[in-house]
Parts: sequence; C-alpha cells; structure tokens
Amino acid sequence: MMPSKLNKKHKILADQFVSLHINNSSFSSLPSYHYDQLRKGIPCPKCKSFATTSVGRLSVCSACGFEETFEVAVIRNVNEFKLLFPTEKITTNTIHDWCDLVNSKKRINRILEKNMKKVGTHQWAYYE
Ligand SMILES: [Zn+2]
Repeated sequence: MMPSKLNKKHKILADQFVSLHINNSSFSSLPSYHYDQLRKGIPCPKCKSFATTSVGRLSVCSACGFEETFEVAVIRNVNEFKLLFPTEKITTNTIHDWCDLVNSKKRINRILEKNMKKVGTHQWAYYE
C-alpha cells in the first residue's frame, strides 16, 4: 500500500547483491555419480585400497596389514553409502551389494540390526 521510490541507496544495495551472487553453489559443483559407476567393496581406511578381506571377526587389508573388526568396517561403509545416496533406503541387500560381499547376508543383517533402527518387517525392512 505504501508507494516506494527507489533511490541511490537501493541501487547500491542491488549492485551489491548481484556482485555477491555465487553462481556455483558447493552442491552444483559436486561431481555427478551413479551407483553403478562406483566401485563396490570395503575400502581400507588407512591405505584406501579395496584389498580388504574378512578373517573371522576381523576385516584385514592385504595391502597394508590394517585390521579392524568387520562390524566397524561395515558400519563405516553404511555411513558412506548414506552420505552418497541420502534418499536410498538402507537394507541388508543394498549394503551386501555395496560392500561387495559373498555369503555374508546374515552377518550384514545382524550388524544392521545391532547398530541401526529397523523399520518394517521381513523383505520390506530397512534401517535408519
Ligand atoms: Zn590398507
């Protein structure tokens, strides 16, 4: 209802806003990636190689010898997956595939149940 008149001050402010405008936000400058393009497996937190194998309760890196419990390694991978794919649901199958494991679905299931909140039941279950 109030008539406004633009003065020199407004013009200076407008110019400042324009000059401050950042064209590339940190989000748009992130590289684009797709699940299929990313290497699956558990990378070693020390040397970043994918040469880790599970030995008993441990995950052992055959490149640098780093050892950690398999559970810690899986949870770290879950957190990385969540960071990369925030809209994807965490399920036993997605994590089993993401960690590139063979014959460890029950183990993954146990680790997820122990460390995360289960939502839903049976094949529709996912974790938060
Ligand atoms: Zn290593």
